[in-house]
Amino acid sequence: MGMQYHEIDLNEDPCIFPDCGHFATKTNMDGIMDMKAHYEISAEENPTAILNTSEPFSMDEVKVCPTCRGSLRSISRYGRIVRRAMLDEATKKFIAWSQTEYSMLAELLLDVQGRIAKASPPPRTLQKNDGPKKKILSNSRITQIQLIRDWVGGSRYDEAIKLWQRINNFLGQVRREEQPFQRVNDFVQHATRMRKTQGIFAFDEAKIQSKGHLQACTLSLKCDTIVIADFMAQRDSLLEARQKLALDFSQHMNECETLVERARATGHPRQETEARVYFAQFCAFSRALASAEETDGETDTNAEKLKEKAKEHLAAARELVARYTGQTEGMMLEIEAAEKMLRDSVFYEPVSTEELRAVYRAMAVNFSGTGHWYLCANRHPFTVGGCGMPMERTVCPECGAPVGGANHTPDAGVQRAHEIENLARDLGGMGIN
Ligand SMILES: [Zn+2]
Ligand SMILES: [Zn+2]
Repeated sequence: MGMQYHEIDLNEDPCIFPDCGHFATKTNMDGIMDMKAHYEISAEENPTAILNTSEPFSMDEVKVCPTCRGSLRSISRYGRIVRRAMLDEATKKFIAWSQTEYSMLAELLLDVQGRIAKASPPPRTLQKNDGPKKKILSNSRITQIQLIRDWVGGSRYDEAIKLWQRINNFLGQVRREEQPFQRVNDFVQHATRMRKTQGIFAFDEAKIQSKGHLQACTLSLKCDTIVIADFMAQRDSLLEARQKLALDFSQHMNECETLVERARATGHPRQETEARVYFAQFCAFSRALASAEETDGETDTNAEKLKEKAKEHLAAARELVARYTGQTEGMMLEIEAAEKMLRDSVFYEPVSTEELRAVYRAMAVNFSGTGHWYLCANRHPFTVGGCGMPMERTVCPECGAPVGGANHTPDAGVQRAHEIENLARDLGGMGIN
């Protein structure tokens, strides 16, 4: 700080004492905290109003004591700035965690898919206790795969159903309500109601991460398609030995369409492509099942309409792959397989999962949470590893858009990674995780 305590005129520039005891003058400390970026400052250098222009993820660090990196949280003058930066940090950790979790579950699903493909054929006759236990009227997604499991018999889909439940747990953990900014918002609203005071917590919607939830939704639907596609392939050889089975995939298709819209609105081409492909698959499953039954004219017309819709989804998926080649890696094979399902009712494609495996691993690295965070023009946060890629070549791995915001330099990027590591340590005991 360059000054001794006795040299400072405390009437003009009072000192601020953090818990660690390393004092600094108010002017110095305000500079460190970058007060001007957050408040309107009066002629006496005091904050008079909160500026609401701060960009999400613009704060690369939770400010600390310049001497010992101790916490400045207890100084009320800076409380708002420190807490805000901590929320940014919590959001970054949330993103990194949800990406790692997704990549892990997505790889597990590939493992399960491989094991189902290699499993020995299902039992020809069912055990006494196997088979449908009672008539189930629900058209929920889990009910459909449970019906399939009971109909096929054996333990063929047990692992897949367990993973389905795990993926759906994850889905609950990445909902909007679970995210740091939303949780603080809910808390402030609750406190306001309790105390009947005015309180408002304004935050940028970009702080709420839609990606984790979109990824969890698509993965969960993919799990259904894997079980159902295998069932379709096994079905022919079992038809004579089993009772009739009625399945309903309307819930699946509705969810796919909702996902397509949400992914498009938030600029997530990969998830949009996936949702479109899965829609076509569920449509193909429905058609193959329906064609085995006697139908009337009305059912036929509906089935044709559905097929047209599925074709449109696949055409749109192809366009997305052409436009976002890097973001949709591995999806072309899935599109081709879905086209075959729809056209020829062929459900036993040999699966090549290596390309997808590589994609999932790369995703986990892109969002590992180390390195400097950028925000693209579509408001997707992402990190760039410490390899020092020049700013102008940095594009969003999610949508390919360039980085939005101008005040970043590549040199600072490498340096900032250090600070975030220190922060992660500082945040350890702060009750936000
Ligand atoms: Zn200190
Ligand atoms: Zn983006």
